[in-house]
Amino acid sequence: MTGSALVLGHKNPDTDSIVAALAATNLYRGRGIDATAAAQGDPAPETEFVLKRFGLAAPKVVTSVAGQRVYLVDYSDLAQAPADFGEATLLGIIDHHKLGDVTSDAPLECFIAPYGCSNTILKRLHDYFKVEIPAPLAGAMLCAILSDTVLFKSPTCTKADQEAAADLAKIAGIADPTALGMEMFKAKSNLDAPARDLVMRDFKDFDMNGRKVGIGQLELLSLDLVSADLRQRLQQELDALRGEGRHSALLVLTDIMKEGSLLLLSSDDEGTVLGALGAPASGERWLPGVMSRKKQVVPPLQQAFK
Ligand code: MG
Ligand code: MG
Ligand code: MG
Repeated sequence: MTGSALVLGHKNPDTDSIVAALAATNLYRGRGIDATAAAQGDPAPETEFVLKRFGLAAPKVVTSVAGQRVYLVDYSDLAQAPADFGEATLLGIIDHHKLGDVTSDAPLECFIAPYGCSNTILKRLHDYFKVEIPAPLAGAMLCAILSDTVLFKSPTCTKADQEAAADLAKIAGIADPTALGMEMFKAKSNLDAPARDLVMRDFKDFDMNGRKVGIGQLELLSLDLVSADLRQRLQQELDALRGEGRHSALLVLTDIMKEGSLLLLSSDDEGTVLGALGAPASGERWLPGVMSRKKQVVPPLQQAFK
C-alpha cells in the first residue's frame, strides 16, 4: 500500500465534496503528503459551472478503493463510500456532517466541525498549516460555501462560514460573492435531464435503525421551474427507488428565494415521515423554512425511527 493517497468525496458528488477534494489535496501536498483528488462521479451542472468559471479540472473518478489509502472529505458514512471501502486504509476525515460509521485500524487525522461547509474547515486548515490557497481554488472554495449555505441563508450557516467566504473572495478577487452565487444557482436550477438523474443528482442513503432511507434534494431559484408533469415523473422515480430496497425515498425541492421546501415522498410508513418533518398529512407538502437536509430533515427522521 504505497503511492499517492486518494482524497475522496461522497457518492453523487456535490460542489462541496468535489472542491473539498481539490482543496484538501492542495493542503496535504503543501504539507508534503502525496495526495490525489478523486470523486465518485462526474460533476453535476452546478459544479461544472464552478470548475469552468475558475479553470479547474474535475478530480478523477474513482469508484473502487480496495488496497488504497484514503482521506475522506465531506462525509464519514459507509453508505456514501465505495462498496469496497472496507478493504481500504482510512487516513483521515475532513467533514461537517453528523459523525458516520466508518472506522479505522490505525490512528487517523480528523477535522470535523459543525460549520456550514467542508471548505470552511479547509480554509481554516490552510491558515493553521500555513499553506497557500491559489486564487482559482479560493474562488471554487467560495462557491462551495455559497452552495452549501445557500447564499448564507441556510440554518447551517455559521460566522466561520461568513468569515471564510470573505477571506476566500479576497484571495480570488471576487468583488460580489452574492452575484456569483446567483449565477451558480442559475446553473444548478437546470432541470433539463431525465427524472431519475434529477432525483439522484444530490441523493444520499441513510441507515436509520435498520431502515434504508434515501433523501434527494434539489435547490432551485424557483419551484415554478418544476412543471406538474415533471413533478409526476419525479414521484414515479421515488416510487421506483423505494422498490429498490428502501423503506422511504424522499425528494426535497427547495425554493431558495422563498426559503422553504416542497416534499415529495414514497414510503412504507408515510405517517411517520410526515409527522417527523411536520408536513401536512394531505395536500401540498410545503415545509416552510426547511433548507437543510443535514440539519432539518435527517435528524428528525433519525429520531422518529429510533
Ligand atoms: Mg456534500
Ligand atoms: Mg458539504
Ligand atoms: Mg447540499
